[in-house]
Amino acid sequence: MAKVLLENIEKSYAETHVVKDVNLEIQDKEFLVLVGPSGCGKSTCLRMIAGLEEISGGTIKIGDRVVNHLSPKDRDIAMVFQSYALYPHMTVYDNMAFGLKLKNRRHGLGRFLHRAEMRQRDTEIRAQVQRAAEMLDIGHLLDRKPKQLSGGQRQRVALGRAIVRQPQVFLMDEPLSNLDAKMRVQTRAEIIKLHRRLGITTIYVTHDQVEAMTMGDRIAVMNDGILQQCDTPLNLYHHPKNRFVAGFIGSPGMNLLDMRVIKSDNKLFLELDNLQLQAPARSQKVLLPYIGKTVAIGIRPQDIYDSAYLPATLQATPGNTFHARCEVTEQMGDATHLFLQAGDHALVAAVTEKTAPKPNEDLKLVIALERIHLFDAESSESI
Ligand code: ADP
Repeated sequence: MAKVLLENIEKSYAETHVVKDVNLEIQDKEFLVLVGPSGCGKSTCLRMIAGLEEISGGTIKIGDRVVNHLSPKDRDIAMVFQSYALYPHMTVYDNMAFGLKLKNRRHGLGRFLHRAEMRQRDTEIRAQVQRAAEMLDIGHLLDRKPKQLSGGQRQRVALGRAIVRQPQVFLMDEPLSNLDAKMRVQTRAEIIKLHRRLGITTIYVTHDQVEAMTMGDRIAVMNDGILQQCDTPLNLYHHPKNRFVAGFIGSPGMNLLDMRVIKSDNKLFLELDNLQLQAPARSQKVLLPYIGKTVAIGIRPQDIYDSAYLPATLQATPGNTFHARCEVTEQMGDATHLFLQAGDHALVAAVTEKTAPKPNEDLKLVIALERIHLFDAESSESI
C-alpha cells in the first residue's frame, strides 16, 4: 500500500503541452478518480504514473520512492485498461497467472530452482489466482479463452490479473467503457467493494462524472491539461471552485447564465433580458464590486421548482420567479427534467413527477436563490 505524489508534473509532445503543472497527493488506500472531458490529459497522467510515458517535468513518488526513471515493472503498480488487454490464446487462468509466473522467473533467474521449489511456487500461484477468481465470481471460467467470455467477464479477468499481483497501486483507465449500461453499474459497485476489501490505493480515470461521483473518495477534475479542483464528491458538487467544475459535475448539468448586477432600491439584482432575479442575501456584499458588470450565475436544475409544487421552505416572490416555455419533458421516474426556454435562454429544471406540462406550455418557476452559484465572468473563479 502506498501514497502517490505528483509534483509539478508536465507533459509535452513536441509543441503540444498536454499536462500543465499538476500537483496531487493521493493518500494510502484512497480511491481517487481523475475525471475530465476527452483529451484533457487524464490518461497521459495515469500513463506517466505507470511509467508507460516519460514525464517532461516534475516528480512522481510512489510510497517513499521517486519513480521518475523506473520502468513500469519496477514501480509495483498494476494497470487495468478499457480494452482488457488479455492474451487471446491463453486461458483465463493463464492470463491471470502470467504476471506472477513472469515475476517468479525473473526472481529465479541466475539461480538453479529445485523442482520441489518450482512446484511449491506453482501451487502458490494457483491458490492466489483461485482466490482472486472467487472474489470476482469467475472461478468457474478459469479454463475458458477470452473469446468465450462476455465483456463483463473479460473485464473481471483483467481485474483479477491486476489483483493477483498484489501491487502497491492500482491504475485503472476507463475500465468500464466497453460494458453496457447495466453491466457498468454492477461492475462499478464490484470495484468499490473490491477496493474496500483490499484497501489498495487506486487511481481511476474516467470521462463520466456520474462514475466519478459514485466511486471516488476524492475526485480530481481536469480540463485542458490543468487540474481544476480535487475534493470529495459532495464538496465538488456544493462548492465548485470555478465555472468549469460547476458545469462538469452534476446531472443534468448546471445552468450557467451571464447576468448583469444592478442596484435598485438599495438592493442588488441580477438581470438578463427579461429575467430579473434578486441577488441572494448572502451574496449582497461580495457582489458590490460587480455593480454594472456581468457575473456568471450557476443554477442547478434541482434548485428550480414548479411554482405549483413548492417545498414548505420556499415562497414565490417577484425576485425569484420567472416564466418559461417547456419545450421537452423527460420523465426519469424519480424526477422529471424540463427543457425550458426563457426568452432567448435555454434552462433545464429537475422537478417532481407531479409536474407534467403539455408541449410548449408556459410554466411559472421559482429558483431557490440561496443555492445559486456565482462566478467572476473574466476569471471564471467562484465569487
Ligand atoms: P484523455 O485521457 O483526457 O482523453 P489524453 O491524456 O489521452 O486525454 O490526451 C491528452 C492530449 O494529448 C490530447 O490532446 C491528445 O491528442 C494528446 N496526445 C496524447 N498522446 C499523444 C502523442 N503520443 N502524441 C501527441 N499528442 C498526444
